[in-house]
Amino acid sequence: MSVDIAQFAVLPNGTNYPVIGLGTHNVTGGPGSVRDAVKYAIDIGYRSVDCAHAYLNEKEVGDGIQAKLDDGTIKDKKEIFITTKLWDTHHNRQHIKENFQKSLDNLKVNSVQLLIIHWPISLKDGDNLFPKDKNDQFMFENHDIVDTWKGMEELVDAGMAENIGLSNFNKTQIERILHSARIKPCNLQVEIHPYFSNRKLVDFCLSKGITVTAYAPLANPDSPLRTGKEPSIFDEPVLKDIAQKKGKTIAQVVLRFILQRNIIVIPKSVTPSRIKENFDVFRFSLSPDEMEQIWTLDKYPRIFIEKWQSDNIT
Ligand code: NAP
Repeated sequence: MSVDIAQFAVLPNGTNYPVIGLGTHNVTGGPGSVRDAVKYAIDIGYRSVDCAHAYLNEKEVGDGIQAKLDDGTIKDKKEIFITTKLWDTHHNRQHIKENFQKSLDNLKVNSVQLLIIHWPISLKDGDNLFPKDKNDQFMFENHDIVDTWKGMEELVDAGMAENIGLSNFNKTQIERILHSARIKPCNLQVEIHPYFSNRKLVDFCLSKGITVTAYAPLANPDSPLRTGKEPSIFDEPVLKDIAQKKGKTIAQVVLRFILQRNIIVIPKSVTPSRIKENFDVFRFSLSPDEMEQIWTLDKYPRIFIEKWQSDNIT
């Protein structure tokens, strides 16, 4: 019997957040591939796209959505739930609005459904995404995340973001925001896959009514942050076995596993067959025993951390 998974998570203000969206941090495709992936994804039913100022892909995402409006596949851009992210060099509350307006212009929308703070780390204000000094050291800046959050709230007041949330924040950092927030964060986006469950943090967020989105849900086999020691889900015997028994692919089993934990997924692909495959996760379910088997893989460190970040997360 199939578990009935809602296709949307409902955010506190009533916005429907699709439980599967297209990730777009593109390290494999060339120019135009994100635009084409967005177009194809919308054609086959995706209604959520995750992008970021720092991915330099908001324009391509905007172009893809515009093309689907122009050809009548969607009637209104608001049918697409757009998530984008406030980058580390834009934490200065005084400039958040003018900086975020550039994201909206690139996306060709007046507001996004979800804006999240990308990392709880502030880099030197400005247009250089990765500012470094003459000794090749990152240049940090001291903006309190609580103050940056106030700037995020002001974007909601201005109608530029419908919902606001966080990414890569730990429990202590989230608690600081919850303590002072006028508008509570409605979402946390963090690394989650079978090798790294992030279980405690997920449980904490869900207990506070904060939805959770899994990034790198397929433990990104192409990530440049891999050290070479991390296994690939695509070679994992436990997953191969379950996939074979179910007549599904490993990617589908893994996405389904995460969805059954009540976590939203945003698998990235620029390959049409994979975009389609990753969306086909609602017509089967994993049994408690299969879920347990996958839980046994939860024994590796995160992939998405670089030394300059781990040393400086406030
Ligand atoms: P991912 O979705 O786990 O993996 C993406 C990789 O898997 C791509 O190389 C893709 O290749 C491949 N792939 C996709 N579907 C596949 C399938 N069915 N079979 C085999 N291979 C498949 O990793 P991710 O891109 O790092 O994470 C997903 C999204 O989360 C990102 O794109 C981004 O939007 C977001 N993210 C956010 C943060 C953050 O700090 N908030 C960090 C990382 C990621 P092809 O594209 O070549 O098909």
